[in-house]
Amino acid sequence: MFDLTDEQEMVLSALDDIARQEFADRAFEWHGEPPWDNIELLAKQGFLGINFDEAYGGGGMGEFEAMLSIEAVGSVCPDTAEFLYNQQMVAPRAIEMFGTEEAKDRYLPPVMDGETAIAIAISEPEAGSDVGSMRTSVSDDLVLNGEKIWVSNVKHSDAAVVWVKYPEGLGSLIIEFDWDGVEIQEHYTNMHGGAQSQIRFDDVDIPEENVLTRGKDAFVDQLKALNWERLGCATLANSFARNGLEKALDYAQQREQFGQPIGDFQGIEWKLADMLTELEAGRMLTYRAAINAHEQGRIPDRLDTSIAKLYSCERAEHIVSEALQIHGANGYQQGHPLEYLYRMARGRRLAAGTDEIQKNQIASVMKESGLPDLV
Ligand SMILES: Cc1cc2nc3c(=O)[nH]c(=O)nc-3n(C[C@H](O)[C@H](O)[C@H](O)COP(=O)(O)OP(=O)(O)OC[C@H]3O[C@@H](n4cnc5c(N)ncnc54)[C@H](O)[C@@H]3O)c2cc1C
Repeated sequence: MFDLTDEQEMVLSALDDIARQEFADRAFEWHGEPPWDNIELLAKQGFLGINFDEAYGGGGMGEFEAMLSIEAVGSVCPDTAEFLYNQQMVAPRAIEMFGTEEAKDRYLPPVMDGETAIAIAISEPEAGSDVGSMRTSVSDDLVLNGEKIWVSNVKHSDAAVVWVKYPEGLGSLIIEFDWDGVEIQEHYTNMHGGAQSQIRFDDVDIPEENVLTRGKDAFVDQLKALNWERLGCATLANSFARNGLEKALDYAQQREQFGQPIGDFQGIEWKLADMLTELEAGRMLTYRAAINAHEQGRIPDRLDTSIAKLYSCERAEHIVSEALQIHGANGYQQGHPLEYLYRMARGRRLAAGTDEIQKNQIASVMKESGLPDLV
């Protein structure tokens, strides 16, 4: 699609090989549990945290390479890709971008080694899309109180990045789950089988070195991190779509009805053509946002990001659903890769900002600045 550097080609082809040879057999058996064997292998081969500084055990590459790695792995094993996305584009990424040296030294190497993960806690019972109305607060002397909900990855993490309100405004910090005053109240099971947790903070003392973002630039910094997370989310969705489309293409060529492969009926050919067109459009939008971000000093543009996240996540659900349709009743069986992928793809339209919130962002930029330039 684009001219890749030698290093990017290497990442793509090595991860494609590893995923197909090592991850394919058990790709639909994880049900939201982290695929630790796969993670350990990726860590051993230097492919966990490729966009992190080598000083913390990362690969010294950029976000674009991280996105390529998610795409290659997710086209085969969606759970491994989801873990890569969470650890390369979300909480640990925020720690590397904004953390103190002490925090980076303490929290990042175990993640790069595949020993643990780090969660991100933003949502609250009364503050979902409306993040600004969050109540979790930190006093001037760094005492944390409040409650978070729907937090993924808690069961297998030791720490979380938490979005909070400081006296001067929105910011973030890092907590550890075994600290006094931190209580995991409940683990819910989502549609995919993954655990999401409710966490309470009662007078939790936060060490100064665990403050991530605070002060006048904090909100803008958080949005930079969030935009990378959204591009990672779009990439993950595209990888699910590719995974489903590959299976649909194979099945359509094997399954015969009315004396011929169903893939020879124009109705199925057109479905496959639409699916590929939508997938490639989503990938283009996502790559464009990532490449533009590099040109702008690694700040993803708000409009580019929301368009990519909205389109890719919405279309991924549609593509995977059409792939299931092509599999007929086979695809609708519990445990079939297509029903499994569908449940995973559905979540992408909600996590990291819902479709509707992305549309609000797009409309707001259009009203402020008009349409983007033609070239
Ligand atoms: C798979 C998955 C993983 C997640 N992981 C995490 C995590 O690790 N950490 C975390 O903090 N959270 C996580 N979440 C929660 C996620 O961030 C929230 O679900 C999301 O922000 C939406 O909040 P809500 O669910 O409270 O919905 P609400 O904000 O209550 O929205 C309900 C509906 O109303 C719509 N809506 C809301 N406001 C508007 C508006 N202004 N205009 C039009 N429509 C609107 C929404 O789009 C949605 O359709 C996860 C969610 C999922 C599905």
